[in-house]
Amino acid sequence: MSCDCFSDQQFLSVEQAIFHILENIQTVEDTELVPLDSALDRILATEVISPIQVPPHDNSAMDGYAVNFASLTNNKTVSLVGKSMAGAPFVGECLLGQCVRIMTGAVVPEGCDTVVMQEHCQVEGDTISFLQEIRQGQNIRRAGEDISQNQIILSKGKRLSAIDIALLASVGIESLSVYRKIKVALIATGDELKSPGQSLTAGDIYESNGHFLKHMLAKINADVLDYGIIADDFEQIKQAFHHADQHADVVISSGGVSVGDADYTKMVLDSIGKIGFWKISMKPGKPLAFGLLPNSVFFGLPGNPVSAAVTFYQIAMHGLAKIAGATPIERTRFIAKTQTDLKKAPGRTDFQRGYYNVNQAGEISVVSTGVQGSGVLSSIGRANCFIVLAKDQGSVSAGESVVIEPFDALLGGS
Ligand code: AMP
Ligand code: MG
Repeated sequence: MSCDCFSDQQFLSVEQAIFHILENIQTVEDTELVPLDSALDRILATEVISPIQVPPHDNSAMDGYAVNFASLTNNKTVSLVGKSMAGAPFVGECLLGQCVRIMTGAVVPEGCDTVVMQEHCQVEGDTISFLQEIRQGQNIRRAGEDISQNQIILSKGKRLSAIDIALLASVGIESLSVYRKIKVALIATGDELKSPGQSLTAGDIYESNGHFLKHMLAKINADVLDYGIIADDFEQIKQAFHHADQHADVVISSGGVSVGDADYTKMVLDSIGKIGFWKISMKPGKPLAFGLLPNSVFFGLPGNPVSAAVTFYQIAMHGLAKIAGATPIERTRFIAKTQTDLKKAPGRTDFQRGYYNVNQAGEISVVSTGVQGSGVLSSIGRANCFIVLAKDQGSVSAGESVVIEPFDALLGGS
């Protein structure tokens, strides 16, 4: 898959674009030690090895009585000699013919190998009789059955979830080495762009890409430097890019990557970095710029809001994951039956927006969310998945099978 990926007008597939991006970027080097409770959504810079086995001791899975199974061969009655509570184990040895009162989570006393749940016991003073068939070893959680000592419990690159933090707490780990957060600069270019709250004059539109990107980046725990809207002016764009490059790991712009009259982005970037202006065979999202600035990695997303969102999600996020030190993103795809006709011309991979549903029989169906234009942001808002139509595929009729990719939680999926 070789190409000079910094030359212009490359026609690349989505996979080739991701490949070239990953080939040309590195993970940030700096790591930091963070306390366990500040580690949510941070990315592990090392694998984590459990310093202990879990559970640390054989313990009871029930409230009941601990015995040695050998005590029960002739006689189902034993005498009570003590108790073992969670946090207060029985001291001494439980001999044949004896039993120990035991509570859930308490250490199984020495000499015992079986716990009988209290509902299956008859208690008369210190004499305990067992009413039911007993299996040797029953109701005991074995030391190390969950995690053994020195077992790898989390891999390098894992983005830490609430369950991961609980798992780390369960083995007594109080701080972790994580990659530092990445800094991402956002620049929206366009004379026509206004912010909500401003009034629109002829030809103006409200800027939305920056808002989408800012919040997606916040969700992946990046620090955002928001440059807001920059006019189509060579000097202003140059200044913004120059400043962003000095202060961020990644610079993301939107707009100005197709070659129109007011597209100064290319001129500016060519003057400061090594950039490829690509044509990706995908729809939406054809133009995409990627490159290396003196200090940072650059992604130039198309201006159209759906194109910007889809190229960010389908392409740039793979690069951001690598820069941040995260394991590669793997998105789930399913086969679904489309209930609507889907228009498609061969030649580009389509990421049409759809709404999928699973019926009680477990069958997955999908409908298009309607007009699929690259500026129609509501087509994503109403969707819960992409309908991924392969490059060489043509139109699809209702009733045929298609590949869908449910939105992940970052994009509002469940
Ligand atoms: P461009 O790539 O700059 O030619 O922009 C393509 C289309 O996307 C134009 O209709 C722009 O007005 C629109 N656009 C560009 N940037 C944004 C933005 N940040 N938010 C919303 N629409 C945008
Ligand atoms: Mg523009």
